[in-house]
Amino acid sequence: MNLMKVAQVYIEHPVMAIDQTYSYTYPEGMRLSRGVRVKVSFNRREVIGFVDCLTEIDENSLSYQLLPILEVLDESPLLNDEMYALAEWMAYRTISPRIACFQAMLPSKIRPKSNRKPVKMLQYVAYQSEPEEFNGRQRQQKEALLYLKEHGEMLRSEWRDLFGISPTRSLEEKNYVSVFEKEAQYLKEEKNTVPFFTLTPAQKRAFDELNASEKEVILLHGATGSGKTEIYLQMADQIIKEGKQALILVPEIGLTPQMVKRVEERFGDNVAIYHSKLNDQERYEQFMRVKNHEVSVVVGTRSAVFMPLDNIGLIVMDEEHDHSYKQMNKPFYHCRDIAIKRGEYHHCKVILGSATPSLESYARAKKGVYGLVTLLERVNHQPLPKVVVVDVNQQLRRKDSYIITKPLRDAIEDRLKKNEQIIILLNRRGYNPIMRCADCNTVVTCPDCDLAMNYHKDLNQLVCHTCGKIMDVPVTCEKCGSHYFVRSGYGTQKLEEELQRLFPSARIMRMDTDTVGKKKAHEEYFTRFGNHEADILLGTQMIAKGLDYPLVTLVGILNSDALLARSDFRSVETTFDLIVQASGRSGRGKDAGEVYVQAFDPSHYAIRYASKHDYLHFFAEEMNYRHVAKYPPYTYLISMVFSHNDLERYTSAIMDLSYQLKSDEKLKVLGPSDLLRTFNKQRKRIIIKGTDLDHMIDAVRSVYDTFMRSTPEVGVVVDVNPLSLE
Ligand code: ADP
Ligand code: ZN
Ligand code: ZN
Repeated sequence: MNLMKVAQVYIEHPVMAIDQTYSYTYPEGMRLSRGVRVKVSFNRREVIGFVDCLTEIDENSLSYQLLPILEVLDESPLLNDEMYALAEWMAYRTISPRIACFQAMLPSKIRPKSNRKPVKMLQYVAYQSEPEEFNGRQRQQKEALLYLKEHGEMLRSEWRDLFGISPTRSLEEKNYVSVFEKEAQYLKEEKNTVPFFTLTPAQKRAFDELNASEKEVILLHGATGSGKTEIYLQMADQIIKEGKQALILVPEIGLTPQMVKRVEERFGDNVAIYHSKLNDQERYEQFMRVKNHEVSVVVGTRSAVFMPLDNIGLIVMDEEHDHSYKQMNKPFYHCRDIAIKRGEYHHCKVILGSATPSLESYARAKKGVYGLVTLLERVNHQPLPKVVVVDVNQQLRRKDSYIITKPLRDAIEDRLKKNEQIIILLNRRGYNPIMRCADCNTVVTCPDCDLAMNYHKDLNQLVCHTCGKIMDVPVTCEKCGSHYFVRSGYGTQKLEEELQRLFPSARIMRMDTDTVGKKKAHEEYFTRFGNHEADILLGTQMIAKGLDYPLVTLVGILNSDALLARSDFRSVETTFDLIVQASGRSGRGKDAGEVYVQAFDPSHYAIRYASKHDYLHFFAEEMNYRHVAKYPPYTYLISMVFSHNDLERYTSAIMDLSYQLKSDEKLKVLGPSDLLRTFNKQRKRIIIKGTDLDHMIDAVRSVYDTFMRSTPEVGVVVDVNPLSLE
């Protein structure tokens, strides 16, 4: 025996067996402990790893030489005991490598070697001068310059997002604007706080019920506009006064700018904000503010659930049904599961709020696993908006337009006259979603994805909405050589054109990923709409949720049942949610709201119940279907997707894996079945259904590990509790 001291380290490399650590030696005196990051060499590359534990092994038992740890990156562990245990649990639950979980928990730019507050310089722009005259082709330059003149100095990146790279660059080059650097203001902004509302009697009852509930997880089923947010804020206030911390989770930030604003308005500097639109440096700063106990409230999207709060007294998850809470890459965790797990650790309440709770959560509340508090009155005592369902087929028979039907047209006309605002929702961007050969009907598809290419008129090109590939409009049909193509269907670009044609004097604002640049442009758009700088806001689902504008009295939902054509088990639920949530944007002020839902199948129960805002009947009916088809919440699902350029070569390996799973009587295994090709990869999927999740996980873990070791070149994506099976 010749014992030597080694550290077991989790590292990241492409072919990761789950949960494997690697041994590294370290010199006497190196300060190592669990959760500290280290630099090591692996396959001749330097990588960053996390120390799991320190042990001793017998040098004589090794057939190879161990490598030393190259550098210790952290003075103290970044992850405390709670987070370390959480990562362990998460790795198990999501069947993903431990290192992927550690990474999900930390802002990417952790540079803890220095304890100084990082100073960050940002680039700003300011108006200098303007030319005698702009020529006709410089319209955008003119707009960009005048905007700056009017608004004063602003972040260069925001300015670029608003007006595009090329016009702003020209202005800079011609010195009409000045560019300069300033230290980031992020932490120093003085914020004025506004007082709390007095709760309405209905809010007060819900507030008291939430406080009195013995359950750790409580579902707050509250109508849109019932004042849930105010309740969260007052509960958070109460918790802070007890010296504890509150964590408020919201769906993707672009959709809920108002929520963040409201939290900031109440708690001022005492708030950290954490979401995907922050850059690495900003995220790091917010993370450190929390770690250093500078704030008691965190508001943020999915990944904010990992913020290093150590004395949590309340966790709120607003719009708990929202799909953005699920991470769609490794590790495929659901924020709700993590929130509940953290709640258990801190023995604090976890409040899940929604007007349209996920079936899973409502079912648990009905069974008594979660508490249930209901709040159905709107704060302003307005009834929920009246919903008119327009049968598009019927309108077509009357030779009406299928884009904006006559009833909706009339309603828009009416609101424009009254100077009220309108939101129009269409969940498809681009101009025409389909382009086909006029002679042989072949649809133009993405060369890498087997999906229809979308025509974008502004680019005069075709765009794949799955992989982003852009290509020129074809001249000849690949199949028959014809030169004639027809385009059909409509997206937001075409809708904008159509609306402008119908209502020439209306001010129209379009929001979709094509018009809204990356950074904070969302907020800019929403603020402008809030200031009534536009009459009609049209856009994709990014405008469906969370908005609270008193002047909006009409919401139009086009193509509302498009999702129902899909066979996915959750598409009916998603359709219902979308209609109810979008309807909830109407009539939030003193005037009653109206909603027009255009549908091809108005008799579908999702549309019928949504138009009556009737969640309970919808829940009952949808649960029946889930029961019959053995889908969640009656079962659990795990999906395994295999991908490779030439996947056929691995068919037998995948079949073997599925046979192995099928031999387990407690599992129901479907597939492997072929999926559409995406990103130039062929794909196959296996679905595992069962009622004992732990057992399912164990079964999948074992076959997955073996498969990865024997065929590391095949991509495998395992998703436990997938949101959908699209
Ligand atoms: P929800 O989150 O349930 O959709 P909100 O919290 O957005 O509802 O509330 C709807 C509107 O009512 C908001 O404009 C909010 O400021 C206002 N509001 C909420 N509670 C009160 C109250 N107690 N008194 C006056 N206004 C309130
Ligand atoms: Zn053809
Ligand atoms: Zn593609």
